[in-house]
Amino acid sequence: MTKAYKFCQSCGMPFKQDPGKGGTEKDGAKSTKYCSYCYKDGEFFLASEISSAHEMQAMCVKKMKEQGMNGLLAWVMTRGIPRLERWK
Ligand SMILES: [Zn+2]
Repeated sequence: MTKAYKFCQSCGMPFKQDPGKGGTEKDGAKSTKYCSYCYKDGEFFLASEISSAHEMQAMCVKKMKEQGMNGLLAWVMTRGIPRLERWK
């Protein structure tokens, strides 16, 4: 049985906020572990640039700031990223 995750195990975004409701595997199957932003066709988004939890966090903070979020709040919201399964 596949474990059901509430949050993307790469970026920490809640699946209910994911417009794609999960990423996709190479064969087109839905991923229940990673969101549609992080994982598509069996590959991670920007895998060559983002290879650590810290880099993922920095990218998420940047995106949130672009959307007008306070930088400090963005850090608080993404601080759980290093504990997600992808980064273990
Ligand atoms: Zn994600």
